Amino acid sequence: MRVETVGDGTPELAVVACLHGNEPCGKTAIERVLAENPAFERPVRFIIANEEAVKEHVRSIDEDLNRSFPGDPDGSTHESRLAAELLSQVHGCDVLDLHSTRSHPEPFALVSRLNERTKRLARATGAARVVDVSYIAGGLIDQSNGVAVECGFRGTRRAERNAERVLRNFLGVMGALDTLSEEGDPELYRIFDVVEGSGYEFIGENFVRVETGETFARRDGEVLRAERPFYPILMSTDGYEDILGFQAERVGKL
Ligand SMILES: [Zn+2]
Repeated sequence: MRVETVGDGTPELAVVACLHGNEPCGKTAIERVLAENPAFERPVRFIIANEEAVKEHVRSIDEDLNRSFPGDPDGSTHESRLAAELLSQVHGCDVLDLHSTRSHPEPFALVSRLNERTKRLARATGAARVVDVSYIAGGLIDQSNGVAVECGFRGTRRAERNAERVLRNFLGVMGALDTLSEEGDPELYRIFDVVEGSGYEFIGENFVRVETGETFARRDGEVLRAERPFYPILMSTDGYEDILGFQAERVGKL
């Protein structure tokens, strides 16, 4: 794990990249910002979490780090030990956690503990959409006051640019950097169900409403039809091994 703390004092803000080693956009964004050697007006801790997985170009070494919390300093897997170390590094901090997906090209924010503080963090990302993922328990943002951002398609330049934009905006709104930034006025979605199964082709579009009876996935001769209206989120043909993605409702403005 690579940790770099900037500014004076004890950080109350942490930026985490590469919980998943095959999602390099957050690392690139952090490196671009730090390369400019800017004057930080608040201390910030930057963390490249799973460096070993980054080197191997894999999501994880032994198990999914974002499903390994709270972890154990003497745990039997690389990610179990890393999870414990990461939690101690972000203790007491508001967290921005940068990811990328196979599902959607534009940044969207994920919040697990919805409260005034995490709402502020979500607005600070500048993302147009925020998803309440409390239905999916266990990630880093479930362990701290934090927001995760899915920055775009994994491994693309666009995801890197999005991650950089999100990071600069976040640091600006949170008062860590004197830079052009603006709080967003995002739309809130809430995940209420998972679509399980493997080998499905997703034929809808994320954040585009699927009506009752509409076909949204197919496999061989079989199709999946909506039993009630929903918005697909993190839904993709090849994003996960055993699920297609999630179903959400649209709540309104955050
Ligand atoms: Zn990820």
